[in-house]
Amino acid sequence: MNRAALAGRLTDVLQRSGGERLGIMLVRIQRLQEFRLVHGYEASDAVAPAAAVRVRGLLRPQDELEQVSENEFIALLPNLLNTGHAMLAATRIVRDFDSPLMFHGHAVMTPVAVGVSLYPDHGIDATTLLRAAEVALRDAKRLGERCALYIPGTERAMVPYEWLHDALQANRLEAHFEPILDLRRNAVCGYESLARWNDASSGSIRPDVFIRLAEDTGLIAELTRWSLNATFRHAAGIRARDSALRFSVNISPRVFGQRDLVQQITGALAIWDMPPESVTLEVTESALMEDPLTSIAMLHTLREAGLGVSIDDFGAGYSSLAYLKQLPATELKIDRSFVSDMRHDVRSSRVVRAIIDLGHQLDLQVVAEGVEDAETLELLRALGCDRAQGYHIGRSTPASHLLQRIEVHD
Ligand code: C2E
Ligand code: CA
Ligand code: CA
Repeated sequence: MNRAALAGRLTDVLQRSGGERLGIMLVRIQRLQEFRLVHGYEASDAVAPAAAVRVRGLLRPQDELEQVSENEFIALLPNLLNTGHAMLAATRIVRDFDSPLMFHGHAVMTPVAVGVSLYPDHGIDATTLLRAAEVALRDAKRLGERCALYIPGTERAMVPYEWLHDALQANRLEAHFEPILDLRRNAVCGYESLARWNDASSGSIRPDVFIRLAEDTGLIAELTRWSLNATFRHAAGIRARDSALRFSVNISPRVFGQRDLVQQITGALAIWDMPPESVTLEVTESALMEDPLTSIAMLHTLREAGLGVSIDDFGAGYSSLAYLKQLPATELKIDRSFVSDMRHDVRSSRVVRAIIDLGHQLDLQVVAEGVEDAETLELLRALGCDRAQGYHIGRSTPASHLLQRIEVHD
């Protein structure tokens, strides 16, 4: 059952509930990608059915369980007396997964995380309640817990799922390009593509808000597809004028589990006649480190396909140097918090120097982001940084305008 069908099912249940309290429990199997990497697709495909059997055994006969994605289930718990009962059920599930599942005679650990929302406490319609369970699951992860109850207000920054879904369908997002400067040649050598969403009714919605929503709701696959195509489409036009320019696209590691990701990327490259060597995929350091084994494998595949790989927001996460050494990256991008402080703060500029040296020792290109003034730019140049971007170099502009401007100058 997909999410839309599940929302329909939940609406039916709510209509028949007679106002009694109902629990909505979102159960997500953790580390399925890592599991797949170690044990292969066949074994990983067997995880969800086995997990379903186990969860089912922990529920009451009147509870319903539906699988809604590769690694997620929704349980509907009717006739709950209070919030305590819902959390009891959630805790029972996460505890039970402390003991391994058995596959072909092997014991395998597959931890789960659970987010819980309640009708009518947290909403009275299916969409609101399902989203509240998503928010609770995200809160649990953020707090380092394995299960959490929805707390009203924590989703303030969220926008409705349908809006983003519709905006993607109707191609209402826009790719903006931010220039990247080659510090040795002192010339623009490429652009980073950044998604922008200006909603007709609520104005501009920040990318970190809608990207997190996309990650939480499974829309990230569609957003990634959109982002790759929008970037390559404009990039192809710009490259027709200057074929040396390179283009960077942000990728959420949430899509690393997708079997067809590499085909999707190479397919989009082929459609727009873009050489893979002219494209760099940016993945944040913290995201890479959430599941280093999967990341390393995925990045190898992308490198083999000829694409560049950048470790974004470097310094803000907690890389283990052991993993960093193994990451087949081509570029380190220094987090802008260090860059923006380096003019006033000796320690920040020392960290920047150390990152540049580390990057060069690992044969990586080093890029500084968030350069807002000339002084910082000169400091970076003096430290041997390879490239820079930020408001001082140029703000991002709609990719379509950029192309027009290039055509006018010709
Ligand atoms: P990011 O990859 O770190 O992107 C750089 C962010 O810094 C952008 O914010 C950019 O507008 C901003 N910025 C650039 N120069 C400066 C400067 O000099 N000073 C300051 N203070 N900020 C500067 P934006 O566009 O809001 O994007 C936020 C994040 O959203 C990005 O962070 C990236 O992680 C994510 N993102 C954006 N577009 C996409 C996309 O198409 N797909 C995915 N998966 N993520 C995206
Ligand atoms: Ca980036
Ligand atoms: Ca960044």
